[in-house]
Amino acid sequence: MISFYPGPSKIYPEVASYLQDAIKEGILSVNHRSPEFVEISKSAIYNLKEKLNIPENYTVFYTSSATECWEIIAQSLIKRGSYHIFNGAFGEKWYKNTSKLIPYSQSYWFDKEETIDINQIKVSKDTEVICLTQNETSNGTQVLEGTIKELEDKFPEQLIAIDATSCMGGVATDFTVADIWLASVQKCFGMPAGLGLLICSPKAINRALMFNENHYYNSLVFMYENMKSWQTSYTPNVLNIYLLNRIFSEVKPIQTINATLKERAKGWYAFIEGLDGISPLVDNLATRSDTVIAVKGEPELISHIKSSAKKKGLLLGNGYGQWASDAFRIANFPAISDDEIDALKEFLKAF
Ligand SMILES: *Cc1c(COP(=O)(O)O)cnc(C)c1O
Repeated sequence: MISFYPGPSKIYPEVASYLQDAIKEGILSVNHRSPEFVEISKSAIYNLKEKLNIPENYTVFYTSSATECWEIIAQSLIKRGSYHIFNGAFGEKWYKNTSKLIPYSQSYWFDKEETIDINQIKVSKDTEVICLTQNETSNGTQVLEGTIKELEDKFPEQLIAIDATSCMGGVATDFTVADIWLASVQKCFGMPAGLGLLICSPKAINRALMFNENHYYNSLVFMYENMKSWQTSYTPNVLNIYLLNRIFSEVKPIQTINATLKERAKGWYAFIEGLDGISPLVDNLATRSDTVIAVKGEPELISHIKSSAKKKGLLLGNGYGQWASDAFRIANFPAISDDEIDALKEFLKAF
């Protein structure tokens, strides 16, 4: 089965041999306070920073998931209020999760066909963090880097937090335009689930130290203390950290991956526009995602395509949330090969 699901998604084929190496090298029993672990952890973060162009002075933390990153931000970086800008299910979930934990959250909903108009964003003086989903996995839209930069420039008092779960590892981004970046690895990283990444600017770290919130095992100040020696406040997913290190020592630099994905995305949208009965879910070229291609059609046809594809060994992603039955999604992640894309195109052409 070739998976085009946008998460959990196809893993890099190399993971098979890395897993065997991990067993041979005894990684699965390594103690998370040992020098062996520290070496792997340090190297994983070094490789990640190098390949994704993460600034030297940003701190990378391991978590269990993107959802846990949302929780850490709410617990350790917000005392009064947050402001959430979203157009789909994941951004909304982040807003809902956060509003349960803090006294005051505002939300700003925009349409999937709309680019965010910064002039419409009016944050209250209680807002400490502005939250934005860079790539909305549920509807296949993305926010341009320029928009994130505009936010950062307009709101210097606030921290800007970006959920990049379904584009980090595929889309080249200037990390300096925001203070907090989060992702989990079962999407664009081509890895098995069970590891999240939280990446913080010095401004975000200073805020955490100033708040000094220390009620939880994953309070950011504890995480920061531990990360000074490349460790975690709990026993982490050592195997996935090992895989992160191996994968990021081998992958191409992000600019190269980004260029390939952009080309492939263009190809996908043009191809789908040429088919009968289905079309891209998003019309606006400026908001279409490069990494998650959402396709809409009559529910009956969509369901028929999905089930026939599955019989041919091609797994399509279901529509999500409000598009559960009249859309499917195709991951355009780096672990997917040109041959696999061609196989899916052949299938769709013949349908
Ligand atoms: C999948 C996804 C999440 C949730 O990721 P978990 O690792 O399951 O917590 C959050 N945000 C976005 C944008 C996602 O695509």
